[in-house]
Amino acid sequence: MLNILLFGPPGAGKGTQAERIKEKYRLVHLSTGDILRGELKAKTELGREAQKYMDKGELVPDEVVIGMIDNKLKENSGANGFIFDGFPRTTAQAKALDELLEKSASPISTMISLEVQHDELVKRLQKRAEVSGRADDKDISVIENRIQVYHNETAPLKDYYKAQGKYTPIDGMGSIEDIFGRVCTVLDEL
Ligand code: AMP
Repeated sequence: MLNILLFGPPGAGKGTQAERIKEKYRLVHLSTGDILRGELKAKTELGREAQKYMDKGELVPDEVVIGMIDNKLKENSGANGFIFDGFPRTTAQAKALDELLEKSASPISTMISLEVQHDELVKRLQKRAEVSGRADDKDISVIENRIQVYHNETAPLKDYYKAQGKYTPIDGMGSIEDIFGRVCTVLDEL
């Protein structure tokens, strides 16, 4: 079983690379951002609650996203493996994921961390705003806040996975195909 944690700041290309990895390695793609946007669209209570955080670029409470991932792991119990995209984002989430995987599947195989310079992140997110329809891509102050939240709350997870010998940084600059090539080199060695 291959369980990939795709890591990086907003705009690093996690969703784009996850789509390609999913096709090539036949894994289930779990994006907490996508699941939350689905709840928003369906106008559920959870979606309404989450939107307050998402619109500001803040993190949705841990118990909400952990519960979502728990459900998805149960729904996909026959999977070959998973790509976790945008989850975990806090140490509490990382610990919860380790516990969930211990119960239901294999541990994380590796954390692929897409490393992209700040100016490039902002450029990509502003470009994405033209097509994504995402409120949090439209406002530069929300973009900057999401990057800041990443540095404060999420980036420390690199050390969490480093301690497990699973931290794999990858140059996330350049073309989508070049970056995918680098990702495959890592995955093919697992
Ligand atoms: P993303 O699509 O991964 O950029 O996520 C969009 C927004 O959804 C984030 O800015 C957060 O408000 C929320 N979100 C997504 N994943 C998580 C998570 N693992 N923990 C907390 N909030 C999340």
